[in-house]
Amino acid sequence: MTAATFEEIGRVLRNERRFAILSHVRPDGDALGSQLALALSLQKLGKEVRVWNEDGMLEKYSFLPRAELLTKPPAVPEEFDAAVALDTAIQNRLGTTRAAVRSAKIWINIDHHSSNPGYGDLVHIDTSAPATAEIIFRLIRSQGLPLDRDIATNLYAAISTDTGSFQYPKTSARTFEIAAELIRTGLDVGRLSQQLYENYPRRRLELLRELLGVMRFCADGRVASFSLSLQTASRLGVLPEDNEGLIDHLRAVRGVMVAIFFEELPDGKIRVSMRSKTDAIDVCAICQKFGGGGHKLAAGARVPGALAEVEQLVLQEVCERIEALGNPATAARCLTA
Ligand code: 5GP
Ligand code: MN
Repeated sequence: MTAATFEEIGRVLRNERRFAILSHVRPDGDALGSQLALALSLQKLGKEVRVWNEDGMLEKYSFLPRAELLTKPPAVPEEFDAAVALDTAIQNRLGTTRAAVRSAKIWINIDHHSSNPGYGDLVHIDTSAPATAEIIFRLIRSQGLPLDRDIATNLYAAISTDTGSFQYPKTSARTFEIAAELIRTGLDVGRLSQQLYENYPRRRLELLRELLGVMRFCADGRVASFSLSLQTASRLGVLPEDNEGLIDHLRAVRGVMVAIFFEELPDGKIRVSMRSKTDAIDVCAICQKFGGGGHKLAAGARVPGALAEVEQLVLQEVCERIEALGNPATAARCLTA
């Protein structure tokens, strides 16, 4: 769904003065990098920007240029000409930032999630984009908006993280062309990759050790999962941001079609994170059944209930769908296009 053109969005960005740039709770690199990139470009145009996320800036992304711009929303709501939601599949995932916008003449929704229902006044959803940052880059370029090295660094970090370092299926020639253009602004790719992927706190590895200790396989090794209880999280002193990417260890196993990460949250819900390696299994559809959403091959949900209960419920649903595919030998070949 692409109701609004870059021209229409560009007109609002040029003509209005005061902007709120928002994204989803439990932000990832794409959310934070896209927010900062658009905010910095608007700032260079002389606009006033607020860049808010319910969780504020994460420690692990605090090296991003001008990271200090991104804060938690204030308790007292503010007024804006335009509010922009980035990478946010559904409005309630804006969390507390939504209420911090008292009013906005125009709501802009820019995203790449297939489950996005298209809320807002100007909606640009491109599900072919592997990262929202790729859409932001094309918006900036097509509208002649400012793009400097700081903006490029934020966009590159966002694209790199949301494509699993340029690996996931939506990574295209266009993605590499954009990356090349970003690098030409003077990015130090080696240094940036080290900041992104070789600078984790030790506790993240301790968490991985714990998770590998409880990993399970079912449906003839086609489903792999592990789970994190609140008790374990607190014993290890892990932060929510520590587990981004750990599910990839499950996905990386031969024969695994679906990887699932269950995480007990303090609010009594279980965060379910799901990855599929094959078009034959649409994890977005599965997660939507549990009240969540996302992409066909990467999705999530927050399901009320006890950890063991939700695990059983979700695993049963996934395993049933996998068994319905038939012959395990054929179905286990995840290298299908
Ligand atoms: P992750 O597993 O990395 O948290 O999320 C994978 C994808 O699913 C992301 O694109 C994210 O936006 C989406 N997603 C994760 N959790 C939820 C959820 O609770 N609700 C919805 N609608 N989408 C989610
Ligand atoms: Mn994204």
